Amino acid sequence: MQGPHLESRTGTVHLVGAGPGDPDLLTLRAARLIMSAGLIVHDGLVSPEIMAMARAGARLVSVAKARSNHTMKQDAINALLVREALAGHDVVRLKGGDPFIFGRGGEEAEACRAAGVPVQVVPGITSALGASAAAQIPLTHRDSASIVTFVAGQCKGLTEQDWAGLAGKDRTLVIFMGVATAAQIAEKLMADGLAPETPLAVIENATRSEMRVLRGPLAGLPDLVQGQRVRSPALIVIGQVTAESDTALHAIALEAAQ
Ligand code: SAH
Repeated sequence: MQGPHLESRTGTVHLVGAGPGDPDLLTLRAARLIMSAGLIVHDGLVSPEIMAMARAGARLVSVAKARSNHTMKQDAINALLVREALAGHDVVRLKGGDPFIFGRGGEEAEACRAAGVPVQVVPGITSALGASAAAQIPLTHRDSASIVTFVAGQCKGLTEQDWAGLAGKDRTLVIFMGVATAAQIAEKLMADGLAPETPLAVIENATRSEMRVLRGPLAGLPDLVQGQRVRSPALIVIGQVTAESDTALHAIALEAAQ
C-alpha cells in the first residue's frame, strides 16, 4: 500500500562505533544494526571481518578518506547521509573505534540534526581502549598514572594545536594519528618537559591478527617508527605504564618458561 505517510518518512542515521577491528569487540547493538542494515556507509578503518557481517544485498558505501582534502570530503559525507535519510533510508554510518573519539561523529550528527534527520549514536570501543587491553598496558595505574589524555597527532595541522601542558608527572598520553608526525610529536613533548627517556609503546593494528607492539624511549620515537616501518592505524602510548606492563609480561613469560 502506498500511503502518503510512507513517502514522507525520513530515515534515521545511526552513528555506530565498530571498535578497533576484532568483531568480538562490537557491542550487541552495533552487531544487530550491521547485520540488518540496508545501507552501510563505512570508513577505511572498519575491518573486513566486520564488513562481512552485513547482510547479502546490503548497499555498502566506502567513504575512506585520503589524508589531504579532509574538509571537502567531510562535507560530501554529511550530504550523503542527509540525502539518503531524506529519501527514506535508514543509514548505518559505521566508524572505527568510537564515533565521538576523533571520528568526526559530532559534525555528522550536527549536519543531520540541521536537516531534520533523526540521529542515534551507538558507542564503540575506542582503539585506545582496545589497544590497551590487547597490549596489556593499563592506561591508569594507582602508582604511576592518574591522568589519561587522548591527543590527535594530526588534526588541523600540528602548529594550531596547543601541546603545552601535556607533559607532566603520572600521566599517560594516547596519541591517535601520530605516525606521520612522530618526529614533531617527540620534539614538542620533550620541549615541554617530558624526559627523553620516558617510556612509550607504539601499537599498530591493535586487536587485529597483524598487531605489533613496539617499545622504546620518547627520544627514540622517530627512529622506532621509521626503522620498524610503522604504518597507520597505530597509536602511540606514552608514560610509565608502558614500561610496567613490559616488566609484568616478561615476568609472566619467565614463569611460563620455568
Ligand atoms: N574513532 C577512532 C579513531 C579515529 S582516528 C577510535 O575511537 O579509535 C584514526 C586513528 O585511530 C588512527 O590513526 C590510529 O591512531 C587509531 N586507530 C584506529 N584503529 C586502530 C587500531 N586497530 N590500532 C591502532 N590504532 C588505531
